[in-house]
Amino acid sequence: MPQAFETVEVQTDLLILGGGMAACGAAVEAAYWAKKNGVKVTLVDKAAMDRSGAVAMGLSAINQYVGLKDGQNTMKDYVDYVRNDLMGITREDLVASIARHVDSTVHLFEKWGLPIWKDKEGGYVHEGRWQLMINGESYKIIVAEAAKNALGPENIIERVFITKPLVEGGKCVGAVGFSVRENKFYVFKAKAVVCAMGGAVGVFKPRSTGEGAGRAWYPPFNSGASASFTIQAGAEMTCQEVRFIPVRFKDAYGPVGAWFLLFKSAATTAGGGNYMMERRPELNNWAPYGLVKPVPANLRNYLMMLDVMEGKGPVYMQTAEAIQKIADSEPDPKAQKKKLKELESEAWEDFLDMTISQALLWAATDTQPEEKPSEIAAAEPYFIGSHSGASGAWVSGPKDIAPPEYFWGYENMTTVKGLFAAGDASGASSHKFSSGSCTEGRIAAKSAIRYIVKEKPAAPSIDGGAVEKLKAEAIAPLALYDEHCNKTTDPEVNPEYILPRMYMMRLQKLMDEYAGGVSAQFTTSEAMLKKGLDFMKLLKEDSEKLAARNLHELMRVWENRHRTDQADAHIQAMLFREETRWPGYYFRADKPKMDEANWKVFVNLTYDPAKGEWAAKKVPIKTIF
Ligand SMILES: Cc1cc2nc3c(=O)[nH]c(=O)nc-3n(C[C@H](O)[C@H](O)[C@H](O)COP(=O)(O)OP(=O)(O)OC[C@H]3O[C@@H](n4cnc5c(N)ncnc54)[C@H](O)[C@@H]3O)c2cc1C
Repeated sequence: MPQAFETVEVQTDLLILGGGMAACGAAVEAAYWAKKNGVKVTLVDKAAMDRSGAVAMGLSAINQYVGLKDGQNTMKDYVDYVRNDLMGITREDLVASIARHVDSTVHLFEKWGLPIWKDKEGGYVHEGRWQLMINGESYKIIVAEAAKNALGPENIIERVFITKPLVEGGKCVGAVGFSVRENKFYVFKAKAVVCAMGGAVGVFKPRSTGEGAGRAWYPPFNSGASASFTIQAGAEMTCQEVRFIPVRFKDAYGPVGAWFLLFKSAATTAGGGNYMMERRPELNNWAPYGLVKPVPANLRNYLMMLDVMEGKGPVYMQTAEAIQKIADSEPDPKAQKKKLKELESEAWEDFLDMTISQALLWAATDTQPEEKPSEIAAAEPYFIGSHSGASGAWVSGPKDIAPPEYFWGYENMTTVKGLFAAGDASGASSHKFSSGSCTEGRIAAKSAIRYIVKEKPAAPSIDGGAVEKLKAEAIAPLALYDEHCNKTTDPEVNPEYILPRMYMMRLQKLMDEYAGGVSAQFTTSEAMLKKGLDFMKLLKEDSEKLAARNLHELMRVWENRHRTDQADAHIQAMLFREETRWPGYYFRADKPKMDEANWKVFVNLTYDPAKGEWAAKKVPIKTIF
């Protein structure tokens, strides 16, 4: 029996999609400008904002603080850092725009109640040049509270999963989705949309499969909704080849930042070799980027991977050595003992603040960081344009910094009118992290309200027939299951449908083996990518046959459809870029060198949903700073 689904229509002016760092920033800023301009704002999150998105478990550091006012750094310093880390492929206007505003966002966090570590003089304690140490277990709750207070509960809808954009006359005029708790289909009609639904995990096969499925560095909640939404809306996408591979404590993915930056710990191979020193000459092959400090994240990965591929693993973070070294710097034995205790508790807190599972793993494996080293490893690839990846939509820069080629009227608007993107959803502006994503959300929301006020877009007129079609498509997997589930003795195996878990494993295997995942040692080639696309075509055909037993599984169906869009875009972009530029993220074995003359460009993609075709092009990089 087909299940009855109520249709709920929501009319608003500005629709904010997501409830994470960028969306919370957008909500706070939008509330301010909305009041002044009589604009209605609605925010929709698939989960509960208090603990949704990548900051759900908390964080132990704010990774972007520029310190402009104190003269610690300049905007250009930050742009230089990001450009180099991304091997020259960066939208300097976007990075600068966030850098000039990010400090004010951090000050807001503090005002809202986030404890930031202070030194004896009252200054912030830096983990590294740009990073501030925080007691961040409740970071997300604090930021979400501010967003909720600003918008008001009547304008926030939680536990609604957005499936697709509404596009009319080339403009984005809303979105559709379904409740993950009740049989309700939502139609959001809006004059402008801010897309901030995070990045993507689970596109590649994770290191932890059956025994620990779901365990990954990137939180399982974000599954490519931003990428899919902007791709399906027809927006130009950028840097889709730039995935992120974090090197973290093995198996529980605990953060390494505090160890490398604050404790100045070294990582060594089993034989005690230090790949960062021994393999330094390799960095010359990636000049000029390899020769600048800090060494780009992907090259640090690469030097380690070279050792691992030669069989020199496991690789260890020398925690005991680092702790002892700091304690030894104290003048007398009593002070040394006290310092040792202090460092030990900071080490545990670092994990308890943001990756509790790593503390559990330490406990389960009798690991005391002051006594023995811990293994580190390269994780599977993720899509997180706000961190050290760069994938996302191609957005307009700010009028006062962007060159004409990068400016089309409204900051952070994609190439689709009325559709704005921030955080992981916008591309080529890496290293925004939590604070920069919140800042970019603020910028995007202000700009979107300016668009609404100035352009006065007409209210969307999507007709009932179109809505019914979208609704039927969204909930079809439930009916498909009901219709066929009794045709086999085991409902998980059925020739008429595929359940989302099986589908996900097929996608992950494809990406792992052909697109340079863990088991392929992050290596691929033109031939491998083309074979991967053959399988992708078949997978996409079968996605029509995804079935769901309940609302939770319906969410899984759509998560996988979103992942598939992200995966497809990734392969297309890797295939188009005929070089290896980020060897520690992926290696094109058939084009093993970086080609500055031909490929120091952005790779931008556009998808035509009607034809199911991609178009790829090179876009020149403009140097501003
Ligand atoms: C493991 C890890 C460690 C990190 N460590 C640090 C750190 O130490 N310091 C730091 O500053 N930054 C850190 N970051 C980076 C920071 O978390 C991100 O930059 C930031 O959260 C990105 O913000 P966002 O709004 O784009 O995405 P998120 O904050 O992830 O928010 C995404 C939102 O979209 C919602 N959503 C997803 N899909 C849908 C859908 N289909 N429909 C509706 N809503 C949807 C989610 O529920 C969520 O609310 C870390 C990130 C990770 C993953």
